[in-house]
Amino acid sequence: MIRPFSADAAYAQDLPTRAAQPPLAGEQQCEVAVLGGGLTGLTAALELARAGVDVALVEGRQCGWGASGRNGGQALAGLAASMDKVEAALGVAAAQRIWAMTLEGLERLKRQVGEFGVDCELAEPGYVYAALNPAQLADLAAWQQKAVRDYGYDGLTLLDRDGIRSHIGSERYVGGAYDANEVHLNPLKYTLALADAARAASVRVYENSTVERIERGAAPRLVTARGSLRCRSLVLAGNAYLEQVPELSRTILPVESHIIATEPLGERVHDVLPTGVAVADCNQVLDYYRCSRDGRLLFGGRAGPLVTQRAEHARERMLKVFPQLADARIDYAWGGYVDVTLNKLPHFGWLAPNILFAQGFSGHGLALTGLAGQLIAEALGGEPERFALFEQLPMHRLPALPGLRPLAILAGTAWYQWQDRLSARRA
Ligand SMILES: Cc1cc2nc3c(=O)[nH]c(=O)nc-3n(C[C@H](O)[C@H](O)[C@H](O)COP(=O)(O)OP(=O)(O)OC[C@H]3O[C@@H](n4cnc5c(N)ncnc54)[C@H](O)[C@@H]3O)c2cc1C
Repeated sequence: MIRPFSADAAYAQDLPTRAAQPPLAGEQQCEVAVLGGGLTGLTAALELARAGVDVALVEGRQCGWGASGRNGGQALAGLAASMDKVEAALGVAAAQRIWAMTLEGLERLKRQVGEFGVDCELAEPGYVYAALNPAQLADLAAWQQKAVRDYGYDGLTLLDRDGIRSHIGSERYVGGAYDANEVHLNPLKYTLALADAARAASVRVYENSTVERIERGAAPRLVTARGSLRCRSLVLAGNAYLEQVPELSRTILPVESHIIATEPLGERVHDVLPTGVAVADCNQVLDYYRCSRDGRLLFGGRAGPLVTQRAEHARERMLKVFPQLADARIDYAWGGYVDVTLNKLPHFGWLAPNILFAQGFSGHGLALTGLAGQLIAEALGGEPERFALFEQLPMHRLPALPGLRPLAILAGTAWYQWQDRLSARRA
């Protein structure tokens, strides 16, 4: 028996111990093999198994070990990039279809929490997009009008300074937008519940089985240190943690994000987030936060430059928003790689007629991964149309130069921070 997740994340604190799934050993076969036990891979596996397909999933550590079990827990509609970007690439009608599918992903997550019968600490008080300056507030107002007009979405309510103050105990924001449909939860509990559902649907799950080599061809093969898995079709769902496929890693920058959890705040929660909403500010390099069910503030954002001072750096950012928490103890600190593409649009596609992938949700994957898994199952089941729509989104690739990725991460972060400064000056 092992604890399924590193103990530094607040999410793991009250998890029961779980039996590890066996590693892949010997020569195995299946119809569809899935690489990666995060939300994308597990959803695809579950949906395929429900359709009667023989599925096996191979995970290098434990299910939920990647971004899916360590993220901010904020489940959102839409994509990380604006719908303007989608419209510019594919036209308004395609953008409308994609938007509607993202709502489907969000509803799917809420429904599944009920179906799994596991307490994933789902909280439904809504979500606040917090504007740091008038230019950001103007952008939110424009999107709110466009959402109603072009997407038939009336879930957003604009907030002025007093309005946002009723949700967030901070003087930092000039206003914002409130979305009553968006939710937050404990993402590790949700991912592990999904893993249990996949196993119950007869998915064979192999853990502690890092895939060292992927053989392509008529019958693709995943090779680990102790075994191999041959299949008819292969799903690659290793996202920012997958290093063995250059065609995929060249479109993703694994950007580190860091989260801290305060001690339980007791009654002070009401001075911080009185309505219980989850929040992100409107910067490109943003702060995001919410309170957990046991009353801790979970505050995340870009990881600081020094590995040894990441928690301190996150705490400094938290105190800029909530100076009243200067005496709050920090109980947990952890980080993970966010799956950021160069244009913040998700990256779906086929590497070969029998190998497909979905990745690059750009920090917006908690709900979207469920949709991705569903679309993968549809595509392998002979209905590729909805997957194909995402596949058409434009994607930029880094040149294949060794050592370029870390430099690209630094340059990309600096570029987005510069844009945030420009937006503040525009105000
Ligand atoms: C700190 C942080 C905060 C975030 N906050 C939010 C948020 O609040 N809201 C939101 O919507 N999104 C958020 N995200 C993004 C979101 O978590 C991801 O988009 C989503 O979880 C991606 O899921 P996935 O299944 O595609 O990838 P992952 O969950 O990363 O799963 C990939 C799995 O593949 C396995 N793997 C990789 N390579 C191999 C190999 N060679 N062999 C075997 N296994 C392998 C890994 O071990 C991993 O378990 C955040 C991400 C991070 C890191």
